[in-house]
Amino acid sequence: MQSDHQAVTVIGLGSMGSALAAAFLDRGLTTTVWNRSADKARSLVDRGARRAATPEEAVAASPLVVVCVLDYEAMHAVLDPVADSLGGKALVNLTSGTPEQAHEAAAWARSHDAEYLDGAIMTTPPGVGSPDMMFLYSGPSAVLEAHRPTLGVLGDPVYLGTDPGAASLYDAALLGLMWATMTGWLHGSALLGAEKVPAADFTPVAIRWLGAVAGFLTTYAPQVDAGHYPGDDATVDVQIAAVDHLIHAAAARGVDNALPRLLRSLMVRTKAAGHGADSYASVIEALRSEADDR
Ligand code: NAP
Repeated sequence: MQSDHQAVTVIGLGSMGSALAAAFLDRGLTTTVWNRSADKARSLVDRGARRAATPEEAVAASPLVVVCVLDYEAMHAVLDPVADSLGGKALVNLTSGTPEQAHEAAAWARSHDAEYLDGAIMTTPPGVGSPDMMFLYSGPSAVLEAHRPTLGVLGDPVYLGTDPGAASLYDAALLGLMWATMTGWLHGSALLGAEKVPAADFTPVAIRWLGAVAGFLTTYAPQVDAGHYPGDDATVDVQIAAVDHLIHAAAARGVDNALPRLLRSLMVRTKAAGHGADSYASVIEALRSEADDR
């Protein structure tokens, strides 16, 4: 039999909320669910979930309430009317948002005597339940520790500190990294595709290269933190020459050059600020100051 401590409520049963609830059910946790459109609960109820008739009933059902809806406005639309019932509950908000929204939500939860942890999910629904996938959390560590056995069912909990905005800030930074990386890979696929090389042939080589790139990040992180960028591996001047080769190769094959030109303009601004002989890590200086040509 489950102890009450292992009971969990999931509010929001879209693609992601349904995956969260399913992961709890798969591990045998007593799982109560609620969604604005009630029909989305049906398959989970078939698997053993308890359907709450109202958000108030959902909140009352468990000491731990996990919310995953479209955005913070939706979270408030659901929970504001029942905020008085949140007292003594642990509210874990896995809805995507900004750090500012997380701060506001933490203060709102505090004003209703609820414990609040903000979170970000670093996977898509099929990855939920895998220990390899990161779930970022920020807020009081005691809330995470009290509910780690339950939250750990969803993926590997990564704690980022007491500032409730930290999970959203990391989430934004990591998504930026993902989009930049995937777009670079797609650009390379377009370039090679122009020569009839399938993306499936390019990709294993690209993945090996990403391993080397990860090493560059490790080398450059202390340089970024120190504000000192010794160009003893490859200088910005060398990278500008190399990006010109990419721009030439893409133009010659009718491939869009917006991304390489953006990268080149950042490197040129970095050089203009006196970092031509420094490492690529010095591009952080251009990123920290707004361009006057925008
Ligand atoms: P989704 O499938 O579109 O589901 C959206 C959910 O929000 C549904 O439960 C929907 O209810 C609810 N909702 C929207 N507006 C509402 C309102 N005004 N009042 C009450 N409920 C409302 O989206 P999703 O993919 O599950 O994403 C949910 C959250 O997870 C988002 O913040 C997303 O950024 C985040 N996330 C998603 C992924 C992913 O791969 N999908 C990955 C990481 C993070 P109805 O069913 O009634 O419309």
